Amino acid sequence: MVGRASRLRRWLSRIGVRGRGHVPQPHTALTSPDDVERVRRQYQESEQRFRALLESLPRVAVQGYDRDRRVIYWNEASTTLYGYTADEASGRLLEDLIIPDEMRDGMIEAHRAWIAEGREIPAEEIELKHHSGERVPVFSHHVMLGEHTESPLMFCVDVDLSDQKRARRDLAFVTHFDALTHLPNRHAFETELEEALEGCLRRRAGLALIYLDVDRFSEINDALGYEQGDSVLVELARRLGLEQRLTDLMSRVASDEFVLAFPGVNQREDVCRLVGKVQQTLRRPFAVDNGERRVTAALGVSLFPENGLSARELIRNADVAKNRAKLDGPGGLQFFQQHHHDELVRQQRMVEQLEQAIEHRELSLHYQPQVSVVSGRIENLEALLRWQPRGASSFVSPGEFIPLAERSGLIHRLGDWVMEEACRQQAAWRRAGFLDSRVDINLSGRQMLRPDTLSRFEACLERHGLTSRDVGIELTENVLIEADPLVLENLRRLYHRGVRIAIDDFGTGYSSLSYLKHFPVTALKVDRTFMRDAPRQPEDRAIMEAAIFIGHRLGLEVVAEGVENAEQLALIREMHCDLAQGYFFYRPMPAPDIQVLLDGTAGWSR
Ligand code: C2E
Ligand code: MG
Ligand code: MG
Repeated sequence: MVGRASRLRRWLSRIGVRGRGHVPQPHTALTSPDDVERVRRQYQESEQRFRALLESLPRVAVQGYDRDRRVIYWNEASTTLYGYTADEASGRLLEDLIIPDEMRDGMIEAHRAWIAEGREIPAEEIELKHHSGERVPVFSHHVMLGEHTESPLMFCVDVDLSDQKRARRDLAFVTHFDALTHLPNRHAFETELEEALEGCLRRRAGLALIYLDVDRFSEINDALGYEQGDSVLVELARRLGLEQRLTDLMSRVASDEFVLAFPGVNQREDVCRLVGKVQQTLRRPFAVDNGERRVTAALGVSLFPENGLSARELIRNADVAKNRAKLDGPGGLQFFQQHHHDELVRQQRMVEQLEQAIEHRELSLHYQPQVSVVSGRIENLEALLRWQPRGASSFVSPGEFIPLAERSGLIHRLGDWVMEEACRQQAAWRRAGFLDSRVDINLSGRQMLRPDTLSRFEACLERHGLTSRDVGIELTENVLIEADPLVLENLRRLYHRGVRIAIDDFGTGYSSLSYLKHFPVTALKVDRTFMRDAPRQPEDRAIMEAAIFIGHRLGLEVVAEGVENAEQLALIREMHCDLAQGYFFYRPMPAPDIQVLLDGTAGWSR
């Protein structure tokens, strides 16, 4: 490279003097030619070392410019960063090489001011220009050498910030956008929606918000794999996007949940039209690996300003409406209503109270006898959970709090308590000499999802010195059908140990009778809705009859639930049902009342 080495040497000799310890010692008296030679060698070595250092810095681009801003030094890293080789750059003007047009005048003036007035150019983060014209983000530091001489040299030390910039951009992306659909995430959407709402407020316009939740999305994932599930979501986002105007907003707020906002929508008809459009996007099936898949979604709608003034409130209320819509089955649609929200708040309070129920000793078990249809003898007792919150004058219905406990996960603690209490009570009855009737407990679906529930049940029996014939369990059909193989295996173990396993509310679930033979069960409890209507409804009577027939053919004991009058009893007697449970015989009652009962007649007779 022409002249480069000599210019560098000149420069190095300058900074060498101001040096970093690699300069000749000025105070040393050079007395002999040997001394002079030694110092000269030292100086050369240090010059080489320093030059090697500058050349080898991979990410620190160093350029030197003379008084006219012509390149006198250009290291390898500068070539990498700006795309000019040292030969190409040498002798050319700084402003012609790497300074973007809009910075040109400012830079020339800054350089002049430094030389003329000693005003330094501060170090800063700037974007310079690559050979290709592209921008290069750098942190640029400037040094002026020989500032007050005839030939001041400016050195720029630039550190490439591309990686940091990219990382910052990536970070900004992941904090604002959903990686799969590239839609804004919930947080970014809320901010956008807040702005849109301000605009609506100024223009006195309305806004409609639609919360969309794909029905049974986990089934798509389970059946086809996550990749296919993802592609359905991406396609859905694309279709929804096609329907949007420029001012409309959309976000994927959870795995299979989207929220869409339509500013400026006031009229009910317009909202309905929008909903129709969203539903339309789902009409066409979605292409998946081995064919097509139809997809439905629950939609919840909230309106501004009627259903909320803030982004958060509107999203929450559309979500509430969507959850209501879910209850209507696939493809449900609901507009937000205040009482939905009030109901949720009430339920939430109830969950909070229920959390304390065990510690506050608000729970108890009532027992309802099941009697033999033939003899009237009490055979079994079903343990039913009762909750009387502090200060309340009556029980909260399990029909109300059990589903809440299921949803909130509290059911595990409640279930454990029931298991423990039922075993404790049964052991006490056994000790008191009541040896005949078995106690059955109800196990809910969520409880059975925990693989250790049944082994804990067995441990509980053992702890209380009970046998597998002392306490049985009741499960609903759906629980059995949805149970995973491990749970079924545990059930089978219990079955073979002689634990009585009943299918509760039989006839209300899947009712796929062929499944019955695969499950390790010992009894069917026919749901009380059939019993209720059997005397008047031939269909219900037929179902009762069929259930009893099939139960018997499979070697199962059959229990009629909800027997409330003599007419019903006569009917099930005729059908040869084995056991009956219902208010006609006994209501559920606390343990002491049961004890009196067992103590006395130990049976029902009329
Ligand atoms: P289930 O297991 O089907 O219990 C029978 C329900 O029918 C009980 O309601 C009982 O009081 C009621 N019943 C009994 N005979 C008659 C009758 O002749 N007529 C009418 N109309 N009803 C009758 P309860 O105690 O309100 O329990 C409701 C449901 O709550 C239970 O239905 C069961 O699914 C659940 N449950 C109760 N206790 C527990 C528990 O400890 N754990 C779990 N997981 N669920 C429980
Ligand atoms: Mg039951
Ligand atoms: Mg039942």
